[in-house]
Amino acid sequence: MAQLYSYVGPSAIRKRVLGKEEGSRIRSRSDLEHWLKITLQEADSQKQIWVTFVVDQEGHLRVADRHSEHVQCAAGKVVLSAGELCFDYPSLEIAECSNQSTGYCPEPTSFPALKTAIEKSGLAFASPSCFTHEVIFRRCPSCRANNIVKDTWFECALCDAELPKQWNYH
Ligand SMILES: [Zn+2]
Repeated sequence: MAQLYSYVGPSAIRKRVLGKEEGSRIRSRSDLEHWLKITLQEADSQKQIWVTFVVDQEGHLRVADRHSEHVQCAAGKVVLSAGELCFDYPSLEIAECSNQSTGYCPEPTSFPALKTAIEKSGLAFASPSCFTHEVIFRRCPSCRANNIVKDTWFECALCDAELPKQWNYH
């Protein structure tokens, strides 16, 4: 059984975005092309488009504007993975992907859920083996701050408490 991730971010953000439009389910390449068009997404100077994504509980890819909160993209529900995707334009090959979601703090091991969702929707990765940017999230056991572990330095950025080696958002 794949792990499900619940929203663990600030409840004020959840309250602000709930009821707003959720992420679009992408079932095919043409779904993605349609979404890019209607949301007026534009490639940057690198000819790339970054989006917010979640993999919903049913295993479908959902995307939203890059500046959207993951909890809005997921309509507040549990997810199998969450992060950012970067599409090369116009090939729509996925050049970069990360599990960067401070709302859900998914583990790097959630990559297979993303991979399955991408394959199901007929899209493809440039290098399909893992997140190109892996983020390690830990909750501080002392002050409850949400930390991103940098350089395997398992210490809370706010209070210096030691962070556990195991993912701890249960
Ligand atoms: Zn702390």
